[in-house]
Amino acid sequence: MIDLQLHTNDSDGTWSWTHVLEKCLDMNLSAFAITDHDTIVRRNDILGWAKANDAMAIPGIELSTCESDQTIHLLGYFLDGPLENLESRLEFLREGRLQRNKKIVGKLQSLGISVTEEDVLKAAGRATVGRPHIARLLMQKGVVKTMQEAFDKYLAANGQAYYPKVELPLREAIDLLHAAGAVTSISHPGLLKRTPEALEASLKLWRSWGLDGIEALYPSYSLEQTAFFERIAWKYDFIRTGGSDFHGENKPHIQIGTGNGHLNVPDEFIEPLLKKREEVNRHSGVS
Ligand code: AMP
Ligand code: ZN
Ligand code: FE
Repeated sequence: MIDLQLHTNDSDGTWSWTHVLEKCLDMNLSAFAITDHDTIVRRNDILGWAKANDAMAIPGIELSTCESDQTIHLLGYFLDGPLENLESRLEFLREGRLQRNKKIVGKLQSLGISVTEEDVLKAAGRATVGRPHIARLLMQKGVVKTMQEAFDKYLAANGQAYYPKVELPLREAIDLLHAAGAVTSISHPGLLKRTPEALEASLKLWRSWGLDGIEALYPSYSLEQTAFFERIAWKYDFIRTGGSDFHGENKPHIQIGTGNGHLNVPDEFIEPLLKKREEVNRHSGVS
């Protein structure tokens, strides 16, 4: 079993990166990737940990991108470098998130909720700030009972305090990750609000832009969705990735590896992923 989507408190998860990696090792996972939102701060730490523990711990990222007015999360794996251009675009995204926080906090305040920018920054610490930090804060302040309620009422795209964040165009993001020596995969494509026909057309287009893979296994997928992505991967020659999208206590129903209890991403996904890594690095001139 493998797990290629794990979040830590370097973005909006609640566990530290070492806690997550140690749990993966305890569970005997054959490969596992940390994919925090819009940050690669732990890349070197993860490589060092992988070496020390003789485990296939993969540094990754889940990048916020946009295409046809929709947010698309793009996973990147390995990050064999060079990383300077990626770092500079990540800095731009981080700055955008800080500006966005101001807007969301302002909207919450105008709804009569006493929350400040400082509260949010304190809750996030050094992590990439995200809406889950704000949701948790609203729960701690007793404004809502659950994080889900915070999203439904205030933070989801149709919520009262929603404000969009800055995102990179998907096509640029694919190129950016490739140039940084990363294999790309669309995160949870089954969550995109598109008809199967439209989704297939999009994936076909993105494949022509160089996209390498799709997250073919994900906790919330139905059997039909899993079969759909299996077919799409085969038809357009995508590699398949899969992960739990573990966020610690911010998604308490999701466990590492097994997701909601039914997830089991097989070891056979590893070899095509490694092959793709070589191909990407060969094309990008990464040694
Ligand atoms: P952000 O990076 O600030 O846009 O926050 C994105 C994260 O918020 C996602 O990774 C999810 O974990 C969470 N999230 C987004 N939309 C919802 C929603 N409608 N309900 C619950 N959680 C959500
Ligand atoms: Zn997240
Ligand atoms: Fe995501």
